[in-house]
Amino acid sequence: MIELLSPAGSMEALRAAVQNGANAVYLGCGTFNARQSAKNFTPQSLAEAVKYCHIRGVAVHLTLNTLVSDREVDACVELIRHAAECGVDAFIVQDLGVVQMCRRIAPSVPVHGSTQMTIHSLPGVMFCAAMGMTRVVLSRELSREEIAYICRNSPIEIEVFAHGALCMSYSGQCYLSSAIGGRSGNRGRCAQPCRQCYGYSRRENRYPLSLKDNCLVRYLQELDQMGVASLKLEGRMKRPEYVAAVTDVYRKALDTGAVSRPMMEALLTAFNRQGFTDGYYTGNLGKGMFGIREEKPEDPTWLRLARQSYEATENPLVDVKFHAVISQDSSSLTVTDPEGRSCTVEGPVPQLARTQLLTEEDLASRLSKTGGTPYRCVVATAQISPGLTMSAAAINAMRRDALNQLTALRARRESAMLLRLRKIPHFAGNKERPEFTVQVTSREQITQKLVKMNPAVLYVPLHILAEDLTFARQLARKVHVAVALPRIAHDGQLPAIRDALRALREVGIREALVGNLGLLLTVREAGMAIRGDFGLNIYNSLAMYSLREMELLSATLSFEMTLPQVRDISKAVPCELLAYGRLPLMVTENCLFKGKTGECACHMGPAKLVDKTGAEFPVIRDGNSCRSVLLNGKKLSWLDRQNDLAKLGLWAQRLYFTTENAKEVDHVLTACISHVPFDPGACTRGLYLRGLE
Ligand SMILES: [Zn+2]
Repeated sequence: MIELLSPAGSMEALRAAVQNGANAVYLGCGTFNARQSAKNFTPQSLAEAVKYCHIRGVAVHLTLNTLVSDREVDACVELIRHAAECGVDAFIVQDLGVVQMCRRIAPSVPVHGSTQMTIHSLPGVMFCAAMGMTRVVLSRELSREEIAYICRNSPIEIEVFAHGALCMSYSGQCYLSSAIGGRSGNRGRCAQPCRQCYGYSRRENRYPLSLKDNCLVRYLQELDQMGVASLKLEGRMKRPEYVAAVTDVYRKALDTGAVSRPMMEALLTAFNRQGFTDGYYTGNLGKGMFGIREEKPEDPTWLRLARQSYEATENPLVDVKFHAVISQDSSSLTVTDPEGRSCTVEGPVPQLARTQLLTEEDLASRLSKTGGTPYRCVVATAQISPGLTMSAAAINAMRRDALNQLTALRARRESAMLLRLRKIPHFAGNKERPEFTVQVTSREQITQKLVKMNPAVLYVPLHILAEDLTFARQLARKVHVAVALPRIAHDGQLPAIRDALRALREVGIREALVGNLGLLLTVREAGMAIRGDFGLNIYNSLAMYSLREMELLSATLSFEMTLPQVRDISKAVPCELLAYGRLPLMVTENCLFKGKTGECACHMGPAKLVDKTGAEFPVIRDGNSCRSVLLNGKKLSWLDRQNDLAKLGLWAQRLYFTTENAKEVDHVLTACISHVPFDPGACTRGLYLRGLE
């Protein structure tokens, strides 16, 4: 049976989820989770929450899905230990370092790859399986065919977002909130700037980054047949009434196989942004997927009913069997739960019956009165010696005793195996000045001056090299070229990418720059070595060490780090830092160019979005796909402060050219040599100085 997985941003929301039929809940505790503005749980209330759920047969998944800095490792370890002791059923993880921590400290607790890992292909799932994960939460941007393909071939469980808010960017690849206000989505602090208005010129009042909420309620049977293990409902920031209503509708849809009109209306009443979308699932991208929240007066009846579903009642969620034995000198009652756990309690010595004999029917009807408990009596059997009777009060007392004991038994946690986190060696890194690497986006940016500068590595997009192998061969003779792969590549694209890489290997290119875990295997199959890009979100020394174990040639550090963090992180492989360029703030499945004109014109060259303050965000493509990359308008620049980047142990600093033309490229290269002063109007230091909230 497919699992219904509901959000629990608070204890009240947790009750709402459980009482309305969730099979599992996911929740955060303390700071290491992607929804820090939710109420969340304390270490104390986490223990209570797990007990509450386990008694009722509901699993608890702990979200540990943020990037964790080296300084936070000890606190994160502490939380993992505590959660394992509380008996949580799984950890949901984004950071490669945190995956290692969970696997080493609490190897008996399953680890699920968060959607923040940006896993959207079968090789990505295979990678997670190889890392010891037992489930992956897929990116929300996949179609039904793509999900089905992954499910058919995956060795581990697949979880799919069924309902709730959609991010505009692939999750884990959004830096918009960070760049605008230092509130990182990868650190659980997203301020949702995608819900603000933007225009394609300054005064337009449009919402090109605000998607409607996802709703797959009509496809639950299909998802079940595909072999999807779990249906996730989004909403740890939403109120308990929302969780109650949405969980209830999905429970009913799963149990009855039908979706009625009142059920759809209940979902719409709970929350919507001008309706819902199933655009990714059905492959209908574009305008119809976008919408905003319209404020409407609250329906007090709806709120009251939603609250009633979990406040006043205890719904019978666990089926139990009773068996009573009543003989002349003793009485006992045994209760058994669906997992086969059983408890037996002794009752009083029965009385000899003067008038009314105790029958099996009497007994069964007394035992079935489990109201106010999480239990439902499905079978009650009895062996009663003749000529005996027992008071109703005595039978009720036995029933209560037995159920209390069962509750204690169900709440008892299995003792989790806890190990120490093994110390990993620290690598100091490069003592010399960092070299320059250069990444280009277009062919015209590969100027003569650039080639003459001879960067340590020149990253060139796959499609530019693959469409002209003669050019690729000639270029590779002059400079050290590595292929820059698109950050997003669905399964359907992978064979072509592999073939193109093989062809490029033949002309002398031996390395690829990879920003997604799903591409590692494809690059290896093509016989190329791997350089890690910023999309891997490397944020701590443990994650760095993982890359060393995977034999990466180098790694690009997250541009959400501060310079002291960059200095202190272990350089387990040579480290690179973005030092110049427009930082990519989003990568989106929907074509942002199409949002402007209704037709895709993204091959025509860059467009831009403008926010309320007049700040511009140029848009380019991810590789040569129709996926869009939203760039920061202000360029990151450390060209004038190369000394500050000199003592950090870095192997290289990267100049990243996006919308620049050939002349601008040459200008930047000149500036690079001559240390021109910083222009605060056009440039930013990024987060390296100010850091994240
Ligand atoms: Zn397009």
